[in-house]
Amino acid sequence: MLIGSNWTFAQSGQTLEVINPATGRSFASVAAGGAEEVDAAVKAARAAFESPGWAKMRPIDRSKLLERVAQIIEEHAEELALLESLDNGKPKHLAMMVDIPSAVEVFRYMAGWCTKIYGKTLPVSGDGRQYHAYTLRQPIGVVGAIVPWNYPLAMASWKIASALAAGCTMVLKPSEVTSLTALRLGELMLEAGVPPGVLNIVTGDGQSAGEALITHPDVDKIAFTGSTPVGKHIMRTAANDMRRVSLELGGKSPTIIMPDADLERAIPDAAMAIFFNSGQTCFAGSRLLCHESIYDTVIAGIAEVAKALPIGHGQDPTTMIGPVVNKKQQDRIQSYIDIGQQEGAEAISAGSPLPSEGYFIEPTILSNATADSRVFNEEIFGPVLAATKFKDMDEAISLANKTRFGLGANIYSKDMNTCHKMAAGIHAGTIWLNTYFVVDAAMPFGGFKESGVGREVGDEGVLMYTESKSVCALL
Ligand code: NAD
Repeated sequence: MLIGSNWTFAQSGQTLEVINPATGRSFASVAAGGAEEVDAAVKAARAAFESPGWAKMRPIDRSKLLERVAQIIEEHAEELALLESLDNGKPKHLAMMVDIPSAVEVFRYMAGWCTKIYGKTLPVSGDGRQYHAYTLRQPIGVVGAIVPWNYPLAMASWKIASALAAGCTMVLKPSEVTSLTALRLGELMLEAGVPPGVLNIVTGDGQSAGEALITHPDVDKIAFTGSTPVGKHIMRTAANDMRRVSLELGGKSPTIIMPDADLERAIPDAAMAIFFNSGQTCFAGSRLLCHESIYDTVIAGIAEVAKALPIGHGQDPTTMIGPVVNKKQQDRIQSYIDIGQQEGAEAISAGSPLPSEGYFIEPTILSNATADSRVFNEEIFGPVLAATKFKDMDEAISLANKTRFGLGANIYSKDMNTCHKMAAGIHAGTIWLNTYFVVDAAMPFGGFKESGVGREVGDEGVLMYTESKSVCALL
């Protein structure tokens, strides 16, 4: 673990095995930190925050450091992609296309924000006297960041880059399932010249390290990405002392295909919206809502696309579908495929043959899933698409909104008027029109309803790491 400038093991001597999901075998171990390590890390983050070396550093100098971090990640792209592939199972070449560029771009984008966080002057007139009033935007302080295992480096980078741009310092707890790229990023950031204590990393599980971080009295904000149940627990805990939180949680996002859609684009997009990263994407298009006139064509097309996606080891450059992250997820996803069939959906297995070892799941379509079924409402977080038909736009919008989540939606129609009407009517944080999966450091990302609170990245994301203070002086 990284605490200040020290690399340490857990005081307890406990470790966590790192399992390669493609083989099911352990290939490394990381420290299992707990309350003691979290406390030391928070103290290091507080000291760095109070020192002249960070929050009070010239914004232009902080900007140069974040730009240098972007560069150093880029220089180590191959190594980081390999680590991500070994740890999470995802194809290395896809990590080179998605995960690593996302990390580089957010540091580069946020480097620009260091010099652009400012308040406003305010026209206060009041009682006839004259005032000079303005707002200050100040860093929130020490941030406890907790991230999941599906895009480990990218999710950590979104939080680190935004918080550091605002002048905060951080204790990061990676997922106990995938800690490796976060640890390597910590090393690279020190190498880039980020002062010790600005980023601290405590590895460990949610029950020990995670709980210690969310209850530590000297943490000013918790920035969490993960499941909705844990997000709710964090929000309840934070309410005790009104600690700031931002929560990026689960989803059950629809891909909606209207009768006039360009199917040559919509079908492959609908397939990749759910099968990319083996369905382990928070905004995966895990529900298909398709107009009844084209439903059979679309289902057959998605199955055909999926059959052509090679399933295999993440270091094989031809692999498009890697294993899911661990045995627990494999069993959970398989149980949902069974539940879907018990609920009356038709399971269409659409994958190529599975490797003999590792935690693989074949891409599966659960066709004619009903709107009140579990597979249509619960986040499966695997390569499983729950599909249903609709008659008209109103029914499509109503089905899209018939969920407690609200993270994303992909809409396909050649009529942009239809697209914009639907975008306005769907309750979700990001709507993609005739495209999918475009996530950019400039575009605020987050959820409606139980998909979260607050936004990450973009202008709204960086400001989530600041407090606004009004100052009013009598002239
Ligand atoms: P998870 O909620 O099980 O774990 C996420 C993190 O929380 C891990 O680091 C874990 O150790 C920690 N944690 C668990 N219990 C805790 C506790 N009591 N106190 C503090 N920390 C605790 O989620 P996961 O299985 O790692 O990731 C998958 C979930 O993440 C899915 O629901 C997915 O939709 C969501 N996700 C959301 C976004 C988004 O931006 N909205 C992005 C990626 C993933």
